[in-house]
Amino acid sequence: MYNEPIFLKPVFKERIWGGTQLHELFNYDIPSDQTGECWGISAHANGPNEIMNGPLAGKTLTEAWEENREQFGDQAGEELPLLVKILDAKKDLSVQVHPDDTYAQEKENEAYGKTECWYVIDCEEGAEIVFGHHATTREELQAMVENGEWDKLLRKVKVHPGDFFYVPSGTIHAIGAGVQILETQQSSDITYRVYDYDRVGADGNKRELHLNESLEVTTVPHEDPQLNRESSKDKGLKEESLVKADYFGVVLWELHGRSPQFRFEKHILVSVIEGKGMVKVGNQRHAVKKGSHFILPTTMAPFELEGKAKMVVSWSNK
Ligand code: ZN
Repeated sequence: MYNEPIFLKPVFKERIWGGTQLHELFNYDIPSDQTGECWGISAHANGPNEIMNGPLAGKTLTEAWEENREQFGDQAGEELPLLVKILDAKKDLSVQVHPDDTYAQEKENEAYGKTECWYVIDCEEGAEIVFGHHATTREELQAMVENGEWDKLLRKVKVHPGDFFYVPSGTIHAIGAGVQILETQQSSDITYRVYDYDRVGADGNKRELHLNESLEVTTVPHEDPQLNRESSKDKGLKEESLVKADYFGVVLWELHGRSPQFRFEKHILVSVIEGKGMVKVGNQRHAVKKGSHFILPTTMAPFELEGKAKMVVSWSNK
């Protein structure tokens, strides 16, 4: 099977809060000037990628996961566990919260809940996100939601390029206007909307809220995850640990020259967010550049990277 990276064709999603940065920053061919999401690595039913090279070219990543599991190290699971997206928030996203696996399975009949994390690629000066809340008890949370005391309830945090946030299921969150992030998440599309700034959509209606579910799944009180962003300096490639969590590990690779040789026991998901380079396997050379998304399959021989680039790299810990 594959002795080369599996390159994926991104899937784009138009959103009422989306903009044009996916074209401006990544030169993607976006469907409209309200494009909110690029699903770079996805086997989710709502937007699976097409494979662009190798023996499975033209098939979807979902088919590859189902029919050729050896490339994924024979990892168990009904669905590819992770999903990688790039988001462009021209406007504020709704304030939301996601369930954990148990709640998703019992109440939604879905395989996975959603723990996610964000690497801030770029943002406007002064841009903010909502990350957590200030309620100390569940009763207080419920009262603040019912009374619409959003300024009191929602915890706002200023963001800068290069910031990283780990957002476990149960965390109230929202990406704010003027922020572009790379999101690594469990492969799930279950979102409970808590507050939508009372916005009215094109059809003249407000989008649906899911207050009962939100109140059930929100962690109270909010706990700020402690992250230890340590870097290892290797010749040609600096690896910075972003998060080691139950569901996934995520690191940032900063390539400047030629990396040591690698081989992994797990399949690895890679998104290039800056620069360009090559993946060298034996005497093959595969060019990668800002905006490329690919999987390094476990069937691939040892490889090296060469070039000048930044990549967000992840793997499943399940
Ligand atoms: Zn989310």
